This record gives sequence, structure tokens and C-alpha cells, in this order.
Amino acid sequence: MALRDIKNSLSISGNPITSEVTKWHENMPNYHIKHPQIVQSLEAKISENYPNVLLAGCSYNGVGIPDCIADGEKKAEEICLKL
Ligand SMILES: Cc1cc2nc3c(=O)[nH]c(=O)nc-3n(C[C@H](O)[C@H](O)[C@H](O)COP(=O)(O)OP(=O)(O)OC[C@H]3O[C@@H](n4cnc5c(N)ncnc54)[C@H](O)[C@@H]3O)c2cc1C
Repeated sequence: MALRDIKNSLSISGNPITSEVTKWHENMPNYHIKHPQIVQSLEAKISENYPNVLLAGCSYNGVGIPDCIADGEKKAEEICLKL
């Protein structure tokens, strides 16, 4: 399945020299319990000192792809309102 995906997405069709199928333990980061407050404080400081810089992505408002997309869209709208 992985080889098929690699072939379809990257057009690489050679066979691997070695391979390993394993669970990826601890692959998703967990935010610290005070993460929302830290992000809020960081955004307030950035807004005060660098009003045209906005933070987006998995480090701030959710790790999952839907969270990252929603955050990116929100920040893009905020940028458009600043223009
Ligand atoms: C193995 C793995 C499996 C996952 N599985 C899932 C899943 O099943 N479902 C799910 O919802 N989430 C999953 N996640 C989490 C999710 O994929 C990530 O949290 C999310 O994609 C992060 O999005 P992002 O836009 O913040 O960062 P990224 O997707 O990492 O995007 C950052 C981009 O910035 C670019 N970049 C970096 N530095 C620079 C620079 N200096 N200049 C210009 N560009 C730069 C990078 O090339 C990259 O394209 C998984 C993550 C991993 C690692």
C-alpha cells in the first residue's frame, strides 16, 4: 500500500532495499495543560509588538489537519481584514 502511494504521488517505482512496518509510537504531540493560556499570552505580545504577524499551524491551535486548516483560514481572513 505504501509503495503504491509512493508510486502514485512521487512516481518512484523501484523496490526498497529494506523496509519495516511498525506502529509510530507517540507520533502525535500533546499540548501542555496550560497551552491555551500560553498561546493567548504569546498572541497578545505579538499583536502588541508585531501587529502584522499572525501565528498559525499545529504549534498553536490544534494538531490535527482539520484544526490546522481552520486555523489557517481564520488567520487568512484576519490578514484580509488588515489589508
Ligand atoms: C506521521 C504523522 C501522522 C499524522 N497523522 C495525522 C492524521 O491522520 N490526521 C490528522 O488530522 N493529523 C495528523 N498528523 C498531524 C498533522 O498532519 C500536522 O499537525 C499538520 O499537518 C501540521 O500542519 P502545519 O500546517 O502546522 O505544518 P506542516 O504541515 O508541517 O506545514 C509547514 C510547512 O512549512 C514549510 N516550511 C517550514 N519551514 C519553512 C521555511 N523556513 N520557509 C518556507 N516554508 C517552510 C514546510 O515545508 C511545510 O510545508 C500527523 C502528523 C504526523 C507527523
